[in-house]
Amino acid sequence: MKYKVVIVGAGPTGLALGAELKRLGISSLILDRLEAGANTSRAAAIHARTLEVLEPLGVTADLLREGLIIPTLHVRDRDHILANLSFKGLKTRYPFVLACSQARTEALLLEKLRSLGGDVQRPCEVIAISPGEQSVQVQFRTSKELKTVETEWLVGCDGMHSLVRQQAHISYAGGEYKEAFVLADVEMDWPFGRGEGNLFLSKEGLVAVIPLPGAIFRIIATVTHSSPSLGISDFEQLLKERGPESPTDIHRMIWASRFHIEHHVASVMRKGRILLAGDAAHVHSPAGGQGMNTGIQDAIALAAALREGSEEALESWQKKRLEIAHSVVKLTDRLTKVVAASSPGARLVRNLVIRLVARIPFIEHALVRKLAELDIKSSQQ
Ligand SMILES: Cc1cc2nc3c(=O)[nH]c(=O)nc-3n(C[C@H](O)[C@H](O)[C@H](O)COP(=O)(O)OP(=O)(O)OC[C@H]3O[C@@H](n4cnc5c(N)ncnc54)[C@H](O)[C@@H]3O)c2cc1C
Repeated sequence: MKYKVVIVGAGPTGLALGAELKRLGISSLILDRLEAGANTSRAAAIHARTLEVLEPLGVTADLLREGLIIPTLHVRDRDHILANLSFKGLKTRYPFVLACSQARTEALLLEKLRSLGGDVQRPCEVIAISPGEQSVQVQFRTSKELKTVETEWLVGCDGMHSLVRQQAHISYAGGEYKEAFVLADVEMDWPFGRGEGNLFLSKEGLVAVIPLPGAIFRIIATVTHSSPSLGISDFEQLLKERGPESPTDIHRMIWASRFHIEHHVASVMRKGRILLAGDAAHVHSPAGGQGMNTGIQDAIALAAALREGSEEALESWQKKRLEIAHSVVKLTDRLTKVVAASSPGARLVRNLVIRLVARIPFIEHALVRKLAELDIKSSQQ
């Protein structure tokens, strides 16, 4: 049997692509090597443009039901507000950031895919691809056997270490940041309530606190070193040094992680009958929470291009999405350098600039629009 589309990877990008294709009347084979979807919260911010593009699929209403609306982000020096980034004035039906764990976003996309008659085949690890002019052969391993299928189009949604990208010999130029990040989802007493996100800039580094649904808060901080096992006291200490003036008691830690960040963009997102989307095509700093959002938007636009199936539609998709990937890397790179400024001089200049910029509504609005990925709208197919 020859498939029209085989999707490798059922993260948010692969699930969004599979569900949107199904909605457009195109069945696909979706393969994932994991026995079950990951259940950690990871990407917690859903931006306005993602909510817009998921509307026709009907997932936006589900996300809004589960997520927590955050209309404002405050940049602070301890309790003092340096800048107020308000999403309220954006021209969209969703003038806010929606906080929702990636595990729930993936679960809702999977539910939608299933309700349309599709599903994910697991565990199925793709181990080799062999591209031809009219089709691609895909070899994968199930728990019992090796299988080979043929497809018209193969889409690699298989994350940063994409086998599809590597076997297609597509380069992934980029680099690493020297900063390390720690992250935890916790329950705690919090002086600023659950209606705003807060980003604290201090001489020790950055700590950000974003409320999540279910009385949980996400803490993210830059660190120069961290203890091998992260505990509640590590995060209480980070908040004490960099966060609000009053002490914060963490009652429970649900999940913690430490990570180094890299930035890469694939040289192409299409090579013949092979396409790349999501982290397989681009990764960047988590500053601004753009990763999962950009992947879902790649997927929704790709489904429309695959339905059309013409050379022009696919080339136009790749051109626009590559431009967007480069622009997201540029934005997140700037934000990372700003928030992670390490010398006292650089931090002083940064805080002055932030205070100044906060007084110029035009600049504040442009930044908020970029974070919401609404500037993509005018250039997207
Ligand atoms: C700690 C952490 C925090 C983050 N925070 C944010 C945030 O706040 N905002 C944001 O937007 N982004 C954030 N991200 C990034 C976000 O999680 C990713 O951008 C997103 O998961 C990318 O989705 P994807 O579907 O492209 O790839 P992935 O989620 O990596 O999914 C790839 C899938 O492919 C499967 N796969 C891989 N290889 C094969 C193979 N050979 N055969 C079959 N299946 C295969 C994997 O099992 C996996 O299910 C964070 C990431 C981490 C780790």
